[in-house]
Amino acid sequence: MTTPSPFPPASWRGIDDVVIVGGGLAGLFCALKLSPRPVTVVTGAPIGEGASSAWAQGGIAAAIGPGDTVESHLADTIAAGDGLVDVKVAQGMVAEASERIHDLLGYGVPFDRELDGALKLSREAAHSERRIVRVGGDMAGAAIMAALVATVRKTPSIRILEGYVAEQLRSDGRYVTGIVIRDRRGGLSARMLLTTRAVVLAAGGVGALYEVTTNPPEARGEGMAMAARAGALIADAEFVQFHPTAVAAGLDPAPLATEALRGEGAIIVDKAGKRFLLDIHPDGELAPRDIVARGVHEARISGRGAFLDCTRAVGAEFLEKFPTVHAACMQAGIDPVSQPIPIAPAAHYHMGGVHVDGCGRSSLDGLWACGEVAATGAHGANRLASNSLLEAVVFAARIADDIQGLLPNHKVVAWSGEAADDGLEAGDGQSALMRQLRQVMSRHVGVVRDAAGLSEALQTFAGLEAGARDPQLRNALIAARMITAAALMRKESRGGHQRSDFPQTDPALARRTFTTLGACNRIAAAAVRPVPVADAPAAQTAA
Ligand SMILES: Cc1cc2nc3c(=O)[nH]c(=O)nc-3n(C[C@H](O)[C@H](O)[C@H](O)COP(=O)(O)OP(=O)(O)OC[C@H]3O[C@@H](n4cnc5c(N)ncnc54)[C@H](O)[C@@H]3O)c2cc1C
Repeated sequence: MTTPSPFPPASWRGIDDVVIVGGGLAGLFCALKLSPRPVTVVTGAPIGEGASSAWAQGGIAAAIGPGDTVESHLADTIAAGDGLVDVKVAQGMVAEASERIHDLLGYGVPFDRELDGALKLSREAAHSERRIVRVGGDMAGAAIMAALVATVRKTPSIRILEGYVAEQLRSDGRYVTGIVIRDRRGGLSARMLLTTRAVVLAAGGVGALYEVTTNPPEARGEGMAMAARAGALIADAEFVQFHPTAVAAGLDPAPLATEALRGEGAIIVDKAGKRFLLDIHPDGELAPRDIVARGVHEARISGRGAFLDCTRAVGAEFLEKFPTVHAACMQAGIDPVSQPIPIAPAAHYHMGGVHVDGCGRSSLDGLWACGEVAATGAHGANRLASNSLLEAVVFAARIADDIQGLLPNHKVVAWSGEAADDGLEAGDGQSALMRQLRQVMSRHVGVVRDAAGLSEALQTFAGLEAGARDPQLRNALIAARMITAAALMRKESRGGHQRSDFPQTDPALARRTFTTLGACNRIAAAAVRPVPVADAPAAQTAA
């Protein structure tokens, strides 16, 4: 075992005990909003890297254009969410969009503008108006994060622990009192406990639990797993959004061909050049993401293939309008100006996560969550394009307000970090087990699911768990188990959750899922043992 390094270093004394886990948009925005209050940001990768935020291509949805209204944005959000949107939460989120866009402008984000200086707005699938603010065509995420990273680095109240991975929350009953982190740079080192008064989880989504994903490898559901292990309520875990148009060229993660291409008129065709989505939905390529993803999935598994044809709609303007997608295609040997792009659905966004209220508070005292790791209810069963960056900034700002109001600013003179060693040994990354986990998630917990496949997945996870030594892998397995158990319990198809054995939407099940790790463990145990799943304890649900 490695000898613990002295902790905390003398230079860390005097820092307040608000710890934010994650250096994506949600984490950095929250840290900036809390400034000048001292905060510590713990992030596995350097800030701005290893974060989905930096890869966002579309932009942020905001009803700020002439003729657009908050009501129209809300109606589109509700329609995409397939019966499960918490209308009050969504209403609050879309109403705050304009204020948060102004905050981002203040932090130096160079949103695209029209000649008259107004913000340039584009349209995306399932939005009834042009309301997406973008930067440099498809470079919104990179530009937003570059501006925020620069501002954060200049903000003395923000201490950044880059290369530190959070592994476990410490709690005393329902109070979260600390977080265990590990310095993963240059090999594995001892674990350290930071005592806290407030932990804000902003650790992103779950896409990298899947073999085919648009997310960075850091998106392994570790934040959700840590919260669940501490006893927090998890909501809507079964709802994973699959992006229909990832570039299928064998790259991991799979590059994304942004929805905005379809907004520009690009069409989806099969090998024979037939445009097939209009047979499935009147809006064709601009139908909700889950419908397009299923159409693409079916075309691929039936051998007809699926391609995004931008040759007419975008053609020679491709490089100028969509430089990120152009570069990714060229890297994969496809010239999108003249060739249709082979596509596949890829795990993209998690609607579920740590259940939070309108202030971003979890069910545990001292624990908040924002961004993709949180489940606010704003997205329901399916997220509307470009609403997730919006949700990240809206809730990050609310959490900052809440913490300021709840916990008076207070400097800790001698910060009480201490070495933590509870016998958990870090493994070697255990990449073979992680690979197996990702394959199983894509095969059985993917675009189309059924009871047999979900049970088989739970069985496989039980086997993998027996060999899992790496705490990060253990957290990934817990996240995978919770998604799978919740998917097994939802016996209908709705939004991002499609069951081939329950293909219809059941109006009686139009309620969100609220569950715990204990409940999911019981479901998993029942599925692994040959006990009829109907007899297993159900995940708790509430209207
Ligand atoms: C390719 C792509 C395109 C997208 N396009 C859009 C778009 O146009 N519009 C839109 O609204 N949404 C888009 N999304 C979704 C959106 O980007 C994400 O939902 C959003 O950025 C999530 O922000 P976040 O801060 O919650 O998480 P992230 O940006 O993923 O940040 C998570 C952070 O947590 C860190 N982390 C994770 N686990 C740990 C741990 N255990 N310990 C320490 N640190 C940890 C990560 O390293 C990272 O710093 C897109 C997503 C992808 C992948």
